[in-house]
Amino acid sequence: MVIDLTTLSVRKAHEDLKSGVYTVRQLVDAYLAEIKNKNTELNAYLSLYTDIDAQVDAAQKRFTDGTATLLTGIPCAVKANLQVQGQTLNCGSKILEHYQSTYDATVITNFKKEGVILMGLTNMDEFAMGSSGENSAFGPTRNPLDLERTPGGSSAGSAAAVAGNLALIALGTDTGGSVRQPAALCGIAGMKPTYGAVSRYGAAAMGSSLDQISPFAKTADELQIMFEVMKGHDIHDMTSLPNEVWEKEVTKKTYKIAVPENFLEGINPDVRKNLDESIKALAEMGHSVDMVSIPALKYALPVYYILMPAEVSSNLARYDGIRYGSVVSGDSLLDTYKNTRSQLFGTEVKRRIIIGTYVLSAGYADQYYERALALREKIKQELQDIFVSYDFILTPTAPNPAFKIGEKIDDPLTLYLEDIYTVSANITGFPAISVPSGFVAVEGRNLPVGIQFMGPHGSDRAVLDMAQKFEQG
Ligand code: GLN
Repeated sequence: MVIDLTTLSVRKAHEDLKSGVYTVRQLVDAYLAEIKNKNTELNAYLSLYTDIDAQVDAAQKRFTDGTATLLTGIPCAVKANLQVQGQTLNCGSKILEHYQSTYDATVITNFKKEGVILMGLTNMDEFAMGSSGENSAFGPTRNPLDLERTPGGSSAGSAAAVAGNLALIALGTDTGGSVRQPAALCGIAGMKPTYGAVSRYGAAAMGSSLDQISPFAKTADELQIMFEVMKGHDIHDMTSLPNEVWEKEVTKKTYKIAVPENFLEGINPDVRKNLDESIKALAEMGHSVDMVSIPALKYALPVYYILMPAEVSSNLARYDGIRYGSVVSGDSLLDTYKNTRSQLFGTEVKRRIIIGTYVLSAGYADQYYERALALREKIKQELQDIFVSYDFILTPTAPNPAFKIGEKIDDPLTLYLEDIYTVSANITGFPAISVPSGFVAVEGRNLPVGIQFMGPHGSDRAVLDMAQKFEQG
C-alpha cells in the first residue's frame, strides 16, 4: 500500500480511513517511514513520543465503532514547548533537556479527544526565540525544499515536518510570527488565532501577552478544521475568550482588503512582485484591494523587541536549576543559579533576558517599557481604524524567502527584521494567517513565499475563509 503523502489532505485521509482504503496503522507507518528516511537530515523531530502504538489502536477503534471525527488518526507533529503528559518537553534548550511533562496542554487534551495521533516533539529555536531554528540547542532544522536553507522559526521543526511529509498537520506557537513565517518559508499554511481564542495552558511561556498556540497544515481548509478543535474558553487560562465569541459565523462572498503601501518600502523586489500578483488575483476574484497608509506600523518591530524581552525576562526567571530541569551546581545557592543560567541557556536567550531586565529596570522603564506600551495602543488604534472600512490588512508574511543556514545568525538585528510583518498581529492580539502565494527564483531555485491576511479581533473564521478563497483562486 503506497499512500501519496504529498497530495494527502486531512479530508482525503479521513475518507480513506473511513472507507478502509488503509488503516490508521498503515497511515502512521507511511509517515514513520518518511521520518526514518529524512529526519536525520532535516532534524525536524527531536524525538518521537513513546505511546504512538497505543494511540493508533485507540484511533482505529473509533473508525470501527463509528465515533471517528475528521482529525481521528491524523498524524500531528508537536512543537517542543507544548506539554504532553509523560513525554519530553525541552523547548529546544539544554536547561530542560530531560524534562518530562506532568500534564497535557489544553490543546493537547482537545486533540487527544479527537484521536489525533501525536507523533513527537519538534525542534525549535530555544524557548521560541528566533526566526530560523538555528537557536536550538539541538542543531538547526533544514528546509525540506532546499536543505541549505532554514525553514524559518521558531517553530522550525513543525513547519519542516509538514512541508517534508513527516506529519500531515502540526502545532506550533506564535509570539511574533513563529508559525506564520516558517509556514511562508516552507510553502505551507499557518495561522495565529486571536489572542485568547486558544488556551495557552500547557504552552511554555515566552511573552505571555503575545503567545498563541497555532496550527500548521498544507491548506487553510485544514487549518480551519484544527482551529475549530483548538479554540474555546478554558478555566485554566484567564485570558481565554468566552465561547460566545465563536457562536456567529461571519463570512462574506467578497472582501475589502487594505494594503499598507508605506510599509512595503525597501522590500525584496521579488517578494513585492509576488504581492502585486496576489493583489491582481484577489481583484480578479472580485475582492476590492486598496492601497492605504498605516503610519504606526513602523513602530511594530521596535515595540515588539521591547515588550517581548521584558516578558521573557520575567517568564524565564523560573528556570533556576532548582524548580525545573537541569542544574549545574555551585558552592552556594547563588552560584548554582549563576552556573545553571549562564551555562545552560544559549546566547540569544541570555541576550533577551538582559535586554528585558534593562527595559524594565528603574530609570529605564519609563523610557522603554512604558513608551512601548503606549505605542502598542497607538498601533492597535490605527489598525482598528482601518478595520472600520476594511475586512483585512494584506502584506507579505516575511520580507524574504528562505535564507541560508548561517547567513544571518551572527547578526541578530537582521534576523529580527524577518518579523517585520508578523509582529503587529501579536502586539494587537488580532488573528492573522499566512498562505502560500507562489514562488520566487533565488540562485536558480524556486523558493516559496507567503502572503498574510490580518483581520480584527475575533474574525478568525473570516480570516480562514479569505485564505481558502485565495487558495482556491
Ligand atoms: N522571530 C520572533 C522572535 O524571535 C518570533 C518568535 C515567536 O513567535 N516565538 O522573537
